[in-house]
Parts: sequence; C-alpha cells; structure tokens
Amino acid sequence: MRAVDVIMKKRDGGELSRQEIATIVDGYVRGEVPEYQVSSWLMAVFFRGMSFRETADLTDLMLRSGSTMNLSGIAGPFVDKHSTGGVGDKVSLILAPIAAACGVKVPMMSGRALGHTGGTLDKLESIPGYTTRLDERQFREYIERDGFAMTGQTDAIVPADKKLYSLRDVTATVESVPLITASILSKKVAEGADALVFDVKSGPGAFMKTVADAERLASSLVKTGQAMGKRIVGVITDMTEPLGAMVGNFLEVEESIACLQGAGPADLMEVTYRLSAWMLVAAGVAADVDAATELCRRAVASGAAYELFLRNVKTQGGDVSRMLSLVGSYRSAHARTLSAPADGYIESIDAFKIGLAGVYLGVGRNKTSDPVAPDVGFEFQRKKGARVARGDAIATVWGKDAGSLDAAWELVTGALTIGASAPAASPLIIKEITAL
Ligand code: URA
Repeated sequence: MRAVDVIMKKRDGGELSRQEIATIVDGYVRGEVPEYQVSSWLMAVFFRGMSFRETADLTDLMLRSGSTMNLSGIAGPFVDKHSTGGVGDKVSLILAPIAAACGVKVPMMSGRALGHTGGTLDKLESIPGYTTRLDERQFREYIERDGFAMTGQTDAIVPADKKLYSLRDVTATVESVPLITASILSKKVAEGADALVFDVKSGPGAFMKTVADAERLASSLVKTGQAMGKRIVGVITDMTEPLGAMVGNFLEVEESIACLQGAGPADLMEVTYRLSAWMLVAAGVAADVDAATELCRRAVASGAAYELFLRNVKTQGGDVSRMLSLVGSYRSAHARTLSAPADGYIESIDAFKIGLAGVYLGVGRNKTSDPVAPDVGFEFQRKKGARVARGDAIATVWGKDAGSLDAAWELVTGALTIGASAPAASPLIIKEITAL
C-alpha cells in the first residue's frame, strides 16, 4: 500500500481502514514514510476528521508502537485521572492519595509544564529529593505498597506519539480532536489502568477554549476509550480562573498539603472531590458519585489520604521533614504585589495570562528542555467575586529574578479585570459524560 493513496483517500473525505492507518503510523515509526507525507496526512485528518472506529484504530496502533506497563500480579482495580492541562491545576497531587486511601490503585503517569499550563512532574520535583523517574519494577512495587505512584513517561511508551506530536507541533495540526484523542488515550491505556477519568478543561486557561470544543474532545475520549475496552468518565471543568490560590511548583505542593490536611480552597476541593469520586465509581468501590464523594471526604477528614501522600514522598526519595519545613517560606527573594487598580469587584483573573506570565517567572517553560524554578509563582489573596478597594493586595508574585518580574508584569496586571458589580457565579463542573 502506498502512503500517497492513503493521503489521497483521507484528503477526499474517505474512511481509512486499520491497515491504511498502519501504513502511515507504522511506516513513520520505522522511518519508511517521510515526514512530508506524514505532514500531508496529518493535515488531511485535521480537515476531514476521523470516525470513532478510525480514531480507535489510530489509538491502538500508536499504543502498539511501544511497550505497555504490566500491572499483572497486583490486585486492582487500577484507575487513573488525566487532565488536559490548566493553571493552578494540582488536582493529581491531592486526588491520587485520596483515591488510594479509598482502595483504588492509581498508576499515574504525568507530564511537564509546557507553555501556559503547569506540569505535575515539575511540581513533585520541587520537593527536595523527590524523583519522578521510576523504572517499571519501582512503579509496580510502589503502587502495590502505597496504592499509587507518580512517574513520567518513558521513551518506550508510545514512541509513535513522540514523533507524531513533534510533527503536529510544527505543522499546525495539534488542534484536531481525533489526533488529540489518540495521543492522550494511547499513553493512558499504556499505563495499564482498567478505567480512566478525564478532566477536560474548558476556558481561556485551557487547551479547549469553549465548552463546545471541550465537549467534542470529552465525547471523543469517552467513546474511543470505551471502544478500547476501558471504563471511562469525561468531566468538563472550568478553567477561566486559576484553580485554587497558588500557582507555581512548590507553592502548589504547599497548597496540596493544605488540601490533604482539610484546609483546601473550595474551588480546588470541589474539582478534586468530583474527579476522585468518579474514580471510585469507575473502580466499582462506590455505587454512585454521591456515596463516592462521601468516602473521599472521609479519607481527607481521617488523615488517611495525607498519610499516604507523605508515604509516597518518602518512597519516591523525597525528604519529608525538609519539605514540611519549607512550607510557608520556600519563596524566591524577588517578590512583587499585584494590587487592585480601582474600587470594585474582581470580575475575572484570566488563567491564560497568569499561565503565560508564569513562564517568565520560572513556573513553566516554552520548551520541554528549559529549566523551571521551584520557589516562584503566585499566591492569590483574593479571587473572582471579591470586593476590593483601590490598593488592596490581590496576589503576591515571585519571580526567579527582578527581570523576570518585569517581563511578566504586563501579563499579570492585564489578567485582572475589576468591575462595578459582583460577577455572576459560574459552575466549575460543567458537564459529565460516562461510559461505565
Ligand atoms: N496532550 C497530549 O498528550 N496530546 C495532544 O495531542 C494534546 C495534548
């Protein structure tokens, strides 16, 4: 089969067979199909889309391009959560020990900060000594013993995605629902989970800017995941404002500790409890989401989830007492206050601008190889809806040096809108799609 015929068929709106998709994907991974043909094929998929059957075949072919985690021999159920990425989104750090304390095994593979979105691995690595580079033996052992483990993706997992994603990045073909679905799902299925909960973020701080787009992606992830034999839940959550009060690396670890000690901010806990509750339902640990939420709340109230978090930090090489001693003080010396420019109400704090400003400050990065700083970011003293007087402090902002604060400042001040009246409340949990 010739690659050009497959490109032509997709260009003309045809539905590709599994074998035709394999011609491109396997051929590319083997180095037999050149990048210019794969690029054309990606653009044809971008414009023509894919059926769910094609998307499931693409996902499965990508999955089979590498190795998968073997969790056999460990008692499940195995459930993971994946977020499409946001600002201040430290839910994984809180939810994994909650779900584990409720009897779910969580094989969590996470990513790094990129562009305006934060990364779980960078947050965890801000804990002195903590390693996110686990081999398969450690990953299995830690999940079995502590109920969860946190690692990054190895090169052996879905190599097709590494090649295809790099090409999509430079050919303007990232924003395609079937390509995103196959990219995310192949990596998640490779972890060995029986069920997956997707947090599809929607809003300015998210990859999907509108609820309609987030719904298309959630529905594609759920249907394709189901076709691959997984139990799946897709939850669309709001990412207009940063989640919680902290945005940063260690700052977010700090806020996660507060959440696990029962002192988390309401917005962050609402999203965390909802997603962890769906993990319990998907695992068969609870009959419905209300009963599951109650179990999750109890896991926090009893201290069981916090204990598991501390145990995981120790297991993965982190220095627990040093981490706890840094709480409240691990801050760069370069700080500035964002103050209210006028009397009124905080109408919005734009998560996208805060995330982009974070790249200058040292929270995030533009390229995966750029370094990040552990002790920089934002602490919001006030958020959407708060009544403020001119000059009131809204956030403390830490940058890696004075220049980084200068570079970020236009975005930081531009993120804030003050209005004359209190803004209407909007829901955080927008929609849920289940296939259990
Ligand atoms: N995240 C991924 O892992 N893949 C995509 O294609 C988009 C976001």
